[in-house]
Amino acid sequence: MKTITIIFSLGIMTSLSCQKKEELTVEEVEDLTFLREEEKLARDVYLYAFDKYGEDIFTNIAATEEKHMNKVLTILNDYDISDPASNVRGEFTNQVLQNLYNDLTFLVDSSLVQALKVGATIEDLDINDINLNISRTDKDEILDMYEKLNCGSRNHMRAFTNALTENNETYTVQYISESDYDAILASSNESCGWYN
Ligand code: ZN
Ligand code: ZN
Repeated sequence: MKTITIIFSLGIMTSLSCQKKEELTVEEVEDLTFLREEEKLARDVYLYAFDKYGEDIFTNIAATEEKHMNKVLTILNDYDISDPASNVRGEFTNQVLQNLYNDLTFLVDSSLVQALKVGATIEDLDINDINLNISRTDKDEILDMYEKLNCGSRNHMRAFTNALTENNETYTVQYISESDYDAILASSNESCGWYN
């Protein structure tokens, strides 16, 4: 009887210590790797805009983007995926994101209104990309993060749009649908936990 109990408990211990996360698909790994630097793109461009214009909106939202970067890094670490993000501001491993950084900071240079439009553009792109990511995974932990990142992006989208309105300007949506954009503007700020 005793022997059976010992074997049984050993069995449980072995299965616990061998409990591994599900394997990710190549697509899931690519999405997470890209997203880590996409959140960095947002942070770095907003810090650049803050240095240029000193408006709080940029530094406040940049702080949230850093939290978003950290959340993605946590998932990368959980699944043993290497981190593509450089510690240097404005430097990207992914060439598409490097080119975007160069183009967007060039636009930021032209005026405060352009900088706010760049902010709305980044949030527009982020929401669209994360929606695509959501369609390519079925892992609860990753889906939960994607939903919260989108929640944060919707708040940022409202903030940049409101700032443009104060400057008698509007943003023309480029990635998500116009109806999705209108729905975001029609609803009030959301609580996104750590992702605000
Ligand atoms: Zn973000
Ligand atoms: Zn954002």
